[in-house]
Amino acid sequence: MTPIQLELAHGAHNYAPLPVMVSHGEGAWVWDDEGHRYLDFLAGYSALNFGHRHPALVEAARRQLERITLTSRAFHHDLLGPFCAELAALAGKEMVLPMNTGAEAVETALKAARRWGYEVKGVPRDQATVIVMEGNFHGRTISIVSFSDDETARSGYGPYTPGFRTVPYGDVAALADAVDDSTVAVLLEPVQGEAGVILPPEGYLTDVRHLCDARGLLMIADEIQSGLGRTGRTFACDHEGVTPDVYVLGKALGGGIVPLSAVVADRDVLGVFTPGSHGSTFGGNPLAVAVGREVVRLLATGEPQCLAAGHEAALRSGLAALVGHGVEAVRVRGSWAGVDLEPALGSGRQLCEALASRGVLAKDTHGSSIRVSPPLVISDADLAWGLEQLAASVDAL
Ligand code: PLP
Repeated sequence: MTPIQLELAHGAHNYAPLPVMVSHGEGAWVWDDEGHRYLDFLAGYSALNFGHRHPALVEAARRQLERITLTSRAFHHDLLGPFCAELAALAGKEMVLPMNTGAEAVETALKAARRWGYEVKGVPRDQATVIVMEGNFHGRTISIVSFSDDETARSGYGPYTPGFRTVPYGDVAALADAVDDSTVAVLLEPVQGEAGVILPPEGYLTDVRHLCDARGLLMIADEIQSGLGRTGRTFACDHEGVTPDVYVLGKALGGGIVPLSAVVADRDVLGVFTPGSHGSTFGGNPLAVAVGREVVRLLATGEPQCLAAGHEAALRSGLAALVGHGVEAVRVRGSWAGVDLEPALGSGRQLCEALASRGVLAKDTHGSSIRVSPPLVISDADLAWGLEQLAASVDAL
């Protein structure tokens, strides 16, 4: 059997990949097992912001592989402290709690918010509520899908975790109405990636910040997809000069090499955790943290953010030209775009299949929308070529 047949026979069918067998990658490009080359317009859902096999990240991993890869948190290791200090400094916060996947980091932030609610805010025990947004995507755990409004992600997984209220994204009045004495936090994506790269209305994040200050709520920004350079700034919240109480990070933090996520906040929030009250066997392991330190070092130079900001104009003009010619709407921030195909022309999936046949790998979000999120290291010429393929693919539908 071929590897794809083996996958179909023995792997659970919780994904429907495009029929491309990626066998190696470098920078913004990947190659299949027959040597065909594809431009990567997905970048591992932004986990590959620095491209495939970034030399400094590979070198950091290689060096660490030769020393030690896992200690568990039962013992100290010499990279955890520096990593926490450096990531905290990048975010302008005091403390870091490392985990592995994005969903785990979101769960960790929710646990922190509930404990903070009981211990600091004085909410009666087991009464805490967290306000979340319509259209959210925060991962796949039972609690997280409990407050998803995506039926495909949620259906069949009840009973659902209580303690969440959902309001429309971008509507601060609805948010204010939903707050009561039990509310401990607002959880939001500063740009909703999986929903189709949905940008909130100008000033929304600032309004949420003010509301959280006025009502004594933690503002939790899930920057797992939007953060670490993707939008042209270190964090998407930076576009409004807003500092949330809690950053939730993942994806690119592991440099596309290892799973590494983190919750970053001040001592008054992360200080609620005590030994034994939370943990992870692999969270903060030496190999992941060695790569994570190099990621933080790259971001501290500001260069990845500049690369992303530099792509915005090309994405805007390349995509704007398609509006009215098969495309209904586009949204762009930094090196990140949502493209809504006219539904009559086909689905996002069909557009991605057409793109793949022209040597570009992208992924649909919902319905007739796709996202464009190339590695930030993509060259201007390659980005222009990829956009030409997108235009030709829309034309051919
Ligand atoms: N939060 C956001 C905003 C995401 O985009 C994702 C993944 O796409 C997650 C959380 C979940 O991350 P993971 O798949 O690593 O659990």
